[in-house]
Amino acid sequence: MISHILNIIKGWFRPEEQVDPHEALYLHSKKPDVPVYKDENAVKKEHCDGHLRFRKSCPTCQEIVK
Ligand SMILES: [Zn+2]
Repeated sequence: MISHILNIIKGWFRPEEQVDPHEALYLHSKKPDVPVYKDENAVKKEHCDGHLRFRKSCPTCQEIVK
C-alpha cells in the first residue's frame, strides 16, 4: 500500500514517463542543447567556409569544432 502511494508520488515528479515514446523522441530531438550524435556526425563541419581544412589559428574553425 505504501509503495503504491510512493509510485504515484514518483509519477508526479517524473511526468516524462507519461509522454508517448514517439512524442518523447520528437521532443528530445527538438532540444538543441541535447547532442544527437548520429545526426551530428552526418552534418558536422570540421572547419569554417574560409578554407578546405581545419586551421588551429582560425577562430571560426575553433568555434565550429568546439
Ligand atoms: Zn576557419
